[in-house]
Formats: sequence, structure tokens, C-alpha cells
Amino acid sequence: MKLNIKNAFIEELPADAIKENSRRQVENAAFSFVSPKKTANPEAIHVSPEMALELGISEKETHSNFFKNVVTGNEVYPDTKPYAMCYAGHQFGNWAGQLGDGRAINLFEVEHNSKNWKVQLKGAGETPYSRTADGLAVLRSSVREYLCSEAMFHLGVPTTRALSLSLSGDKVLRDVLYNGNAAYEKGAIVSRISPSFLRFGSFEIFAARNDPKNLKILVDYTIRHHFSHLGKPSKETYIHFFKEVSERTLEMILHWQRIGFVHGVMNTDNMSILGLTIDYGPYGWLEGFDFGWTPNTTDIRNKRYRYGNQPNIGLWNLYQLANALYPIIEDVEPLETILHQYKVDFEKKSLRMMQSKLGLFLDDENDLKLIQHLEDILQLTETDMTIFFRNLSNFSEENSNLALIKKAFYDFENISEEVKNQWNLWFQKYADRLKKESLSSEERKKKMDAINPKYVLRNYMSQLAIDAANQGDYSLIDALFQLLKKPYSEQPKNEKWFAKRPEWARNKVGCSMLSCSS
Ligand code: AMP
Ligand code: MG
Repeated sequence: MKLNIKNAFIEELPADAIKENSRRQVENAAFSFVSPKKTANPEAIHVSPEMALELGISEKETHSNFFKNVVTGNEVYPDTKPYAMCYAGHQFGNWAGQLGDGRAINLFEVEHNSKNWKVQLKGAGETPYSRTADGLAVLRSSVREYLCSEAMFHLGVPTTRALSLSLSGDKVLRDVLYNGNAAYEKGAIVSRISPSFLRFGSFEIFAARNDPKNLKILVDYTIRHHFSHLGKPSKETYIHFFKEVSERTLEMILHWQRIGFVHGVMNTDNMSILGLTIDYGPYGWLEGFDFGWTPNTTDIRNKRYRYGNQPNIGLWNLYQLANALYPIIEDVEPLETILHQYKVDFEKKSLRMMQSKLGLFLDDENDLKLIQHLEDILQLTETDMTIFFRNLSNFSEENSNLALIKKAFYDFENISEEVKNQWNLWFQKYADRLKKESLSSEERKKKMDAINPKYVLRNYMSQLAIDAANQGDYSLIDALFQLLKKPYSEQPKNEKWFAKRPEWARNKVGCSMLSCSS
């Protein structure tokens, strides 16, 4: 396995002067050198062939001992220096100070096909940023991160990627429900891949520490390597940089809204500076369409990170990033203009996104009302989001009644006459509206099916794969991995996954709500 290793990050950014791996505040540094922990009995249980190829690793090489040892932290690739990144963050709306890679260790940078990738292990042991925790990860959360990051990629959502899922062979102690019932679980390690793992919090930490010198070094580095089209660093460029981060963040969140993905922990330390979905923790997928839903048990009271609030939180987080960049821009007005534009763009783009989900490609001034009406009825009774939008593409003059979306209702038999009337009224309005479109029903269906996925990683599907994996059976991980490579295609053999969440999963831990314990 011969990789084209690069070292820009560690060579161009300030390193922690202290070499010792003890938990502490790390000043004047973007990262600390650390070594991954050796594990008892490493075993690679799944590899993403698409991701391996992107890095210049052949299928054969992924089966080697060397590959297994590298992606589990048991062997360091020759002439590379692993490191953990220093960052801070706002968690649930409050300033949390230094956080950092508490259990993520960056191995190296690879350049292949003119693309630069950072390879990082999650769950590979302690770092100076581990605070009170152990630096490890368990199998259940690793399966969830591994499957979801690749699924999101195939859904066309900007995201970090995953290369491999491995068992460490060690046991890890976790209290899943935070109720005093800690138990040992299988330890696991995901190797994740991204052009950059920098977060809003990577910039916030220098601003919070009154360190504009290092802030500028980091921003210049980020522009040079990831926003080079913006030109040479200057105040003007910094403003453009913020504008582009703002636009990318909005694009990413609109994708989440389109497919019903709820991140669950949109703290500023979990916001990628490249606008990628990052840190798959207690995320979830909407089953019933519900703006108020959050998968995260830690957030159950305020539901700060609920589905319908994700666009607002994106903006809130961008305010924190604007504050962090202010010391090198020293001008409030352009930052405020950009933040204001986020709101304007959100209204416009969110409408366009919903129109396209409904197969409405020409503008009509009443579309916003039509969409709001739909969102209201969808929440009157539990209605499966994925099934509803997917089956709506079969709508036509001849096929325009409730039976079309019957499969989306969790309790079709007991829907009240009142709700049925609402649906019929909406269908009538929708049919009238479609008459103004120029596409044929077949053409419209094709376009809608390319936007409304047939298959998503429903929470219970991950849980089934996790339960089997805990028994040593990894076949379902592979089956879901293969299924989710083509989320917009009809896959007759996989029709069983185009189904509502089964009732047994309604309140089962891992299937409906998740804690941060991972
Ligand atoms: P998260 O909510 O997963 O984004 O994590 C927030 C912070 O806690 C980050 O700094 C993580 O690196 C850290 N963290 C989470 N779990 C662990 C763990 N098991 N060991 C060490 N640090 C952790
Ligand atoms: Mg995180």
C-alpha cells in the first residue's frame, strides 16, 4: 500500500509545543501530536470500496494486515505523524470552551487524483482533549457513523466519508441511558475521510483566547487550501470566505430538510467549515413528518436541534463564526449583510426545494400556501415522510386519491373524516396546480424520484444491523451498505426496506431516540 502522503496541515499550522499526552488546555496551537492506542484484537469488518479507490488503495490492499493495522491505529504509516485537533465550541447554545479531538486521531493526508484527503480514526484512544472521557467508541455508534456517512454521500448530501469499520477487540464501558446501568460493549474504530475536519469551533478557540495571530494563520491556511478561488488573503477575502461558508452551510441544511435527516447535535464544534455533514452521533431520520422531532435524548426538553429548527440553528452557528472572524475583519456591516442574506436565501431556496419535491418546476405565487397546507396536514396524523413523497410521484389525473399514499399512514384505519377531507381538498388543489406545469406525468415522476429517496437509513434499520453485528454477524451491515448506494432507484429485491418503522421499534432504544453516549 503506497500512498501519496502530504503534510500541509501539520507543517503550515502551529503545533502544540508540549509533546506529552495528558489532558489539559492547549494554547497557541491548532493541534497536538499523539499516537493512536494499540488494541487487543483488531478486525476490519467492512470497507468502503468507493472510498478506498478515491485514496488510491486497491481492493486487494484493503484485505491486507497492514491496512487493518493502520485503520485501527495499531501501526503508524511510515513517515507520518498522527495528531489531534484543538477546537472549542458552543454546545446547546452555551460557550463550552476548549473541546478538541477527544477521541479522533488524524493519521495523515493523502493526495490522489488531484484531491487532498485527511484520514482520521474515531475511537483510537486518548488525546490531550479527552477531558473526562476515554477516547474510545463502541460498535453501535461506529456502525451508525459508518453506514450513514456513506449513505449521505450517495444521497448527494455534502458529508465527510468513511473508509472502514473495525472492531478493536477491546471492551468499552458505557451507560447508554445515563441511568447508572453501565455495561461493557464491543469497542470499534471508524476511519473517516474528509478534505478537512476543521470546524467553526477551530476558529472560535483563537478568537476566545484573544489570539488574532493564530486565527489569521488558520484562516489563511483554510483559504489557501480549501477556498483558493477566493484569491490572496485580505480583509475582502475573509468576508468572501465567510459568505461562502454561510452559503455552503445553508445548502447542506436544505439537503437535510429535503431527505428528513436530523443531525441531533448541531453544536458549533460539529459544524464543518466546508459545509459537510460531520460527527454522526445521535442523528436520526424522520419517519412521521414532524417539525418538532429530535432524535437526541439529551435535547428532549428544549428540542433545540429538532428537524424544523435546523435552518435557524445553522444561522445561530454562523453568528458565532462571524464573531470569531471579527478580529481579523473588524467590520460588522458586511458580516451582518451576509447573515441577513442567509435568511433571504433560506426562504427562497427552501421554497424551491419543496416545490421540486412536489414536482413543481414553474413558479406560481400560491405555491408557498400549497406547501404550508401540505406540511400542516402531514402533521395531523403520523405520516411517513419518505413514503409519502416517494409515492406522490405516481400522482396523475386518474390516480389522485388518498389510496395513492395509503402506505404512508401509520394508522390508516383510524384517520378521521375531517383529516380525510383535508387530504382530498389538498389533492384537488395539487391537481389544479399541476395543470400549470409543462411536464408529462412520466417526466415529472422521473424528476421527483431523483429528489425524493426511496431508501433512507431508518433508525431501526441501523439498530437491526447493530444487534446482528454485536452477535458477530456483519451481513446486514453489508446489505444496508449496498442498498444505500442507490437510494433513488427502485430495487424490487429490497422492497422490504421501503416500509414504515415497525411497531416494535417505536420506543426501542436506538430505534427512536438516542443518547450521546457512544
Ligand atoms: P460530540 O458531542 O460527540 O461532538 O463530542 C463533543 C466533545 O466530546 C468532542 O470534543 C469529543 O471529542 C469529545 N468526546 C466525545 N466522546 C468522547 C470519548 N469517548 N472520549 C473522549 N472524548 C470524547
Ligand atoms: Mg463532535
